[in-house]
Amino acid sequence: ISELEQMGQMRRDFVANVSHELRTPLTALLGFIETLRGAAKDDAPARARFLAIMHREAERMNRLVRDLLSLSRVEAEERVRPTNSVDLRALVASAITTIRPMAEAMGVTIEKIADDSDFILPADSDQMTQVLQNLIENAVKYGLPGKLVTVRLTHVTRDPSLRSAAISIAVTDHGDGIDPVHLPRLTERFYRVDTHRSREKGGTGLGLAIVKHIVNRHRGRFRIESTLGKGSTFSVILPTG
Ligand code: ADP
Repeated sequence: ISELEQMGQMRRDFVANVSHELRTPLTALLGFIETLRGAAKDDAPARARFLAIMHREAERMNRLVRDLLSLSRVEAEERVRPTNSVDLRALVASAITTIRPMAEAMGVTIEKIADDSDFILPADSDQMTQVLQNLIENAVKYGLPGKLVTVRLTHVTRDPSLRSAAISIAVTDHGDGIDPVHLPRLTERFYRVDTHRSREKGGTGLGLAIVKHIVNRHRGRFRIESTLGKGSTFSVILPTG
């Protein structure tokens, strides 16, 4: 009974969090609509400014709904083992290409490190792309201008916790790092170290929760190491067979 109660509580917390996250941009939108109908009706510069804010808030809601849908899809498939053969090297390259413009705008360089061998394993290619994008995007977002973000692919002959051969993907940034007290909770939905900073960067607080679920579905491990003032490494270790 207590486990059931706990699940019920988690579900209520989740619904409350989602409602709160949606209500904030919605309240802003309603407020600006009101202003545009009244005080700012004939003020063209004010109108342009308010529309820009409304656009940003609507995009925030859009991202939130996108991440919620993606989380629920991943959860629904969590017990279905992926069988397609996927080449991680190609996925890393394309994730980097996608994020590069954003990284360049922030003065961050992304580097890929991998030897010449194949990095092929059974995986869901869209979901792996999402893992890579979430981790690399975070490294860019929370890294610092002028710093390097490294994505490293390595073969692991035998991972002790997986008890099998594996491939490790490690995304390293040289940002501010994360206080160790936060590490165990970082993959919880909506858990953020600094809510203001996350919002400012367009974060939904769901990225790492999605990563964790995808890694679980792939029977892998997700590890976070971080040193305050130095940076962080987010590693995904996936069994190859
Ligand atoms: P968000 O959308 O807020 O980025 P995530 O689930 O991706 O949500 O990450 C949760 C929190 O973990 C972030 O709000 C941030 O505080 C912290 N975090 C994630 N990646 C990093 C990183 N590379 N460096 C420092 N903090 C990070």
